Amino acid sequence: MRIQSVEPFILHAPIARGAISDSTNSISHWGIVGARITTSDGLTGYGFTGTHAHLASDRLITACIRDCYAPLLEGEDAMDGERLWLKLARYPPIQWVGRAGIVHLALAALDIALWDLRAKRAGMPLWKMLGGATSARLEAYNTDVGWLSITRDKLVSGCAKAVEEDGFKRIKLKVGHAEPMIDIGRIEAVRARLGDTVTIAVDANGKWDLPTCKRFCGRAQGLDIVWIEEPMWYDDVHAHAELAASASVPIALGEQLYTADAFQTFLDMDAVHYVQPDVTRLGGITEYIRVADAAHGRRRPVVAHVGDMGQVHVHLSFWHPATTMLEYIPWIRDCFAEPILVTDGAYALPETPGAGCTPTEQALRDYAQPL
Ligand SMILES: [Mg+2]
Repeated sequence: MRIQSVEPFILHAPIARGAISDSTNSISHWGIVGARITTSDGLTGYGFTGTHAHLASDRLITACIRDCYAPLLEGEDAMDGERLWLKLARYPPIQWVGRAGIVHLALAALDIALWDLRAKRAGMPLWKMLGGATSARLEAYNTDVGWLSITRDKLVSGCAKAVEEDGFKRIKLKVGHAEPMIDIGRIEAVRARLGDTVTIAVDANGKWDLPTCKRFCGRAQGLDIVWIEEPMWYDDVHAHAELAASASVPIALGEQLYTADAFQTFLDMDAVHYVQPDVTRLGGITEYIRVADAAHGRRRPVVAHVGDMGQVHVHLSFWHPATTMLEYIPWIRDCFAEPILVTDGAYALPETPGAGCTPTEQALRDYAQPL
């Protein structure tokens, strides 16, 4: 299975519900930035990272794929997993200019495409090739109902619809106002409407500082919040360790961490309870597995962040024994040959060979951006 060509692409898919915001990000499109890898035996693998659909920075990723990594892959055997990951990630001139950021987003897309190829060659969905599903039910928690840009009344009615009509049992609400009591009021309104049986997580997207978090967590007692996600600046392991030791709300994080080493530091410092790796940022599936295994070694649940909107993570989540739950944001599902599917609050097991990231011809045509 020799690699013949590596061709980057950029797709900008509009968000069905229109523009959304959390405490840090405001977006109207999701960027699907990746590569198609073709092999000598006629197979085609796809991999991508997720972006804010900012064309100038998306082009930095595709330039890294095309100019830096593609020449290292062409002619190689796509079956070589760890060896190819190390060849790309540890190539000295590229490592010199980036052990995170753009370089890792490009590496992620290529590593995912290689796994997609291996699973297609095996004739199995990725979860099956990795060793089979370890959980019969993969719970979906709905993030798309809880954006900060949704008014309080619409937040309550939207969450009620997701629970009562669509069957979700778990939701996530964005927080991060300068005055955290505004967030407490929104959560109280949702909790009062939904009752005690629905699981509620909150996500501050790195916005707050330690005193604000302590104040928020104090006022949140009694609201049964399953976790507070990215409460503070992403890399501040000491602040997270102190919050984890002092607050009653468990901490979730990981979507902004680029390496297994970064996760290990948070685990070693007891600064994270729910571990949230993302293949699209971590350098792909190869590094994701290292993170999930490390978390499992500490008996910490792994709940992936879906920069891929779940297309790849659904496979990893059904397979990995540390995972029983996965985020749900259905923005780009129509872009893929086998879209993620959630029924009655649980993910369907994918059936098609591959890693779930083959775009439709229509998506490749309608959402393509110039490289
Ligand atoms: Mg988040």
